[in-house]
Amino acid sequence: MSRSEELFAQARQVIPGGVNSPVRAFNGVGGTPVFFRRGEGAYLFDEDGRRYIDYVGSWGPMIAGHAHPQIVGAVIEAARNGLSFGAPTAAETVLARKVIELLPSIELLRMCSSGTEATMSAIRLARGYTGRDKIVKFEGCYHGHSDSLLVKAGSGMLTLGVPTSPGVPAELAAHTLTLPFNDAAAVEACFAELGGQIAGVIVEPVAGNMNCIPPLPGFLESLRAQCDRHGAVLIFDEVMTGFRVARESAQGLYGIRPDLTTLGKVIGGGMPVGAFGGRRAIMERLAPLGPVYQAGTLSGNPVAMAAGLATLELLSAPGFHARLSELSRALCSGLEDAARAAGVALTTQHVGGMFGLFFTERTVHTYAEATACDVGRFRRFFHGMLAEGVYLAPSAFEAGFVSAAHSDADIDATLAAAQRVFARL
Ligand code: PMP
Repeated sequence: MSRSEELFAQARQVIPGGVNSPVRAFNGVGGTPVFFRRGEGAYLFDEDGRRYIDYVGSWGPMIAGHAHPQIVGAVIEAARNGLSFGAPTAAETVLARKVIELLPSIELLRMCSSGTEATMSAIRLARGYTGRDKIVKFEGCYHGHSDSLLVKAGSGMLTLGVPTSPGVPAELAAHTLTLPFNDAAAVEACFAELGGQIAGVIVEPVAGNMNCIPPLPGFLESLRAQCDRHGAVLIFDEVMTGFRVARESAQGLYGIRPDLTTLGKVIGGGMPVGAFGGRRAIMERLAPLGPVYQAGTLSGNPVAMAAGLATLELLSAPGFHARLSELSRALCSGLEDAARAAGVALTTQHVGGMFGLFFTERTVHTYAEATACDVGRFRRFFHGMLAEGVYLAPSAFEAGFVSAAHSDADIDATLAAAQRVFARL
């Protein structure tokens, strides 16, 4: 029995499913989740001492690599002064200023402790600001686990929401309209019918929770246009894409100015941080300035702020994102070549430091296309790569991430491993 198997058995006795977040349980791929002891740069080391090249990066935050000395140093220094005060600290303003400098659509920013809190608060704010209840989201996009956003699409447009999860009241889910991602015509039709009731549209500008699907030209533009025409709030959920696809995030990359932006992951550098911000007139509706309530005991935590600021400083260096893009490109094109040589149908998609692997022949633009890929083949590929010492996201529907710590040699080693695994698929 491996240490991971032992630890998983123990964990299951006291933690539901043995994990504190479901995908970690390897339900998507089968087998025993790997328990990690430590990370360094591009590598993770498991409890049995095995080394893996890591393409999960804690689901996004570890853009500078694991245990980066500058980030860990900043955290230790902050921790020496105390872990939490529940009162304002200078570091919160420094981090807010840095974010505002990188994302000009944000005039005021509020920190919280997770991406879920950020999106939940942003839609409450959009509702409070507009006095409307309906929210538009897209099929296959994930915005955390708050009630209003845990709603899956029906098949047709304008389908009223049904809860994906038991425990979400149907009356609440009915206010969430789910449309197909990358379908500008569906958005237009939805607004034509219900425009006056829609508080806001929330979208992952590059979808990263159904593998990795970039926006088709014109899709994000159509969201901006419809929100403008009907007085709805456009929310870019950049919890994953923020500072990941480009220094200026997806909004800068695609040249669209959202009204509100939600952030998480990278902004905390591995500590629990989320944030939401945007137009002053909307953000001023938030307590204590306005009546829309939102709060948090640990919001703006000084240790978390230190990690976030150190991370944003590192990724502000010239060439940081060009290097990430080059790593993603080299990895994706190398994997496609290796798959083709082995007669395996594989399509890859990447934007900046995030990528997706689809076991299919064609480019993927929609949830339906993403879910039609060969999941069984992905599972075999995942376990083959794991045995080779390459840690990919344990699900066919999650994006992968590279970090600044990945070297050309790491990519080469990954491709050599993939050649061996494809040959056995
Ligand atoms: N929005 C997006 C786009 C995400 O990818 C995630 C997490 N994967 C969330 C929101 C929720 O963030 P958290 O897990 O920090 O609550």
